[in-house]
Amino acid sequence: MGISERWQQSLEYFRWKLDHNVSDSAFDSLRKMTAKQGLDIFDLRSIRSYLVDQLRIERRRYDCCPMGCMAYIKECAEMRECPYCKTPRYHQSPDLVEVALRRNAAFSELTSRGHYDYIPLKERLRLLYATPHVAKKMRYAADLRETKNEEVLRDVWDARVMNHWANLSPPVYPLSLI
Ligand SMILES: [Zn+2]
Repeated sequence: MGISERWQQSLEYFRWKLDHNVSDSAFDSLRKMTAKQGLDIFDLRSIRSYLVDQLRIERRRYDCCPMGCMAYIKECAEMRECPYCKTPRYHQSPDLVEVALRRNAAFSELTSRGHYDYIPLKERLRLLYATPHVAKKMRYAADLRETKNEEVLRDVWDARVMNHWANLSPPVYPLSLI
């Protein structure tokens, strides 16, 4: 089943946004202008959510301070306010937060003032490999090794020291070259 014309147009505009590095606020401004002319593009939140679902991207959402000071992870996972700027973690009042947590309602009933989505490295690599021109670049060193020519030094990847590291099991590359 194909996608609706509205989704098709929204994705085309989203692609244009990415190609030209357009900010979120500029895209939102464009949406308002196109809406006046009868072109109703989905908002960025909807488009991103749609793509995450369609591409089956695993993402993890974490709460963070809305001022950008810190994330509520690891030893900070259960904090109720930012230790740096003292901004409360949740929109609900401290009393409601305490009641909810005491009832063991956990964090699902509470709405955080800030959050961010984390896409694990494995997912990022999968997406990069799904893009043909990026995948080709990512395979560059391996492809070069397959067409090795002892007579010619074509790239740093042909260097003797690189061959040494690449032939270790598992291969090891100096981080400064990756
Ligand atoms: Zn803060």
